[in-house]
Amino acid sequence: MYILIANVYHALLENNDIRKKKFADNRLFSIAIFIIFGFVGPVMWIWDYVTDPIGAKDTIMLRLIFLLLFLVALIFKYISNLRSLLIITVLAILTIEIVFVDILNHLDGGMTYGIGGFIYFLLAEIMCFQGFSLVYGLLMLFFTALLPHLLGIIGFAENFQHSHYAALIWPATFIAMLLQTILSLNYLRRYRLEQQLELLSNTDPMTDAYNRRYFYNVGESIFLKNKRKNTPIIVAMLDIDNFKNINDEYGHNAGDIGIKEVSKILSKYLRESDLFARFGGEEFCILLEDISLEDAKKLFERVRESFEKNTFKYNDIEINYTVSIGVAFGMADSLEDMVRLSDNALYYSKNNGKNRCTFKLVHIG
Ligand code: GH3
Ligand code: MG
Ligand code: MG
Repeated sequence: MYILIANVYHALLENNDIRKKKFADNRLFSIAIFIIFGFVGPVMWIWDYVTDPIGAKDTIMLRLIFLLLFLVALIFKYISNLRSLLIITVLAILTIEIVFVDILNHLDGGMTYGIGGFIYFLLAEIMCFQGFSLVYGLLMLFFTALLPHLLGIIGFAENFQHSHYAALIWPATFIAMLLQTILSLNYLRRYRLEQQLELLSNTDPMTDAYNRRYFYNVGESIFLKNKRKNTPIIVAMLDIDNFKNINDEYGHNAGDIGIKEVSKILSKYLRESDLFARFGGEEFCILLEDISLEDAKKLFERVRESFEKNTFKYNDIEINYTVSIGVAFGMADSLEDMVRLSDNALYYSKNNGKNRCTFKLVHIG
């Protein structure tokens, strides 16, 4: 029960941006409501004719207005951004509702059979507000139900029958709010699961750095973009020197902390937009774009120096290690080629005393 309340609380406050994702089962809910909506419409027309065959003609316009509201909302749902969609949806629902109350007010006995039409608003709103955080949806449902009362009280609709209206609409509003909440919680659960799954499949659990799969997925599009523009990129391979000694001397756990340290130092020196991943063991691969050869040389020299100068702590023991780096600068035929060339450069660093940075210029063709 506590968890449910906490979830509802979070759903109420959730940022609207995360609602952009479309899940198949959410689509299904939308379609279900769409079908109910389509079903309720004709049923109401029939109801109109059964209860009042003569006056029924006047209600056709009303029902069409509802249909219009629904279509307008649907169109805006697909063409506009969230903020303008919110304003337009609120304005559309409120305007049409006021017009509706006004028309009912002028119809002979219009209030009696027109009240059921408000349920249409509730259904339309559940659909329209699925793209927003729960608080908007619930507030909108509540105020849609409340507005006719207010219009009645201020004298805009003198014939408004409060008790009649309340008996039908408030229970329906309650159900609509419940449905909106269930849909919202379902959406968020799915969203979080998907996020978690994405994180798990793209990152290395030990260092929280991206893994090789993510590196190639995202790196490929960065590579292709630069290939088209014919601009150089950087792929660098970094490997801890004599890492086996750390494992042997201080134990595997100490080694693990040493590997995590690499991730931390790379995050510190690289930009937010730069890409780096743990390729396996104590080896990391880095991809940079929009950087000159001079800046890259300075950057990797600083990274190398940072390992040389700093120590990491394990059980109060200060452990010190260095790294070797191999950098490929330019543009090869494929990202794999760039990685292979940086690996060659790394081997050169390893074979020439380690704790150094080797640059390999790749001809841009
Ligand atoms: P070099 O300077 O030539 O790179 O020497 P090195 O000792 O670092 O050699 P190498 O890179 O081949 O060694 C990799 C070692 O890293 C072997 C393996 O036991 C260790 N290793 C791989 N993954 C992990 C890990 O997740 N944690 C720890 N603690 N050690 C790991
Ligand atoms: Mg090594
Ligand atoms: Mg290695």
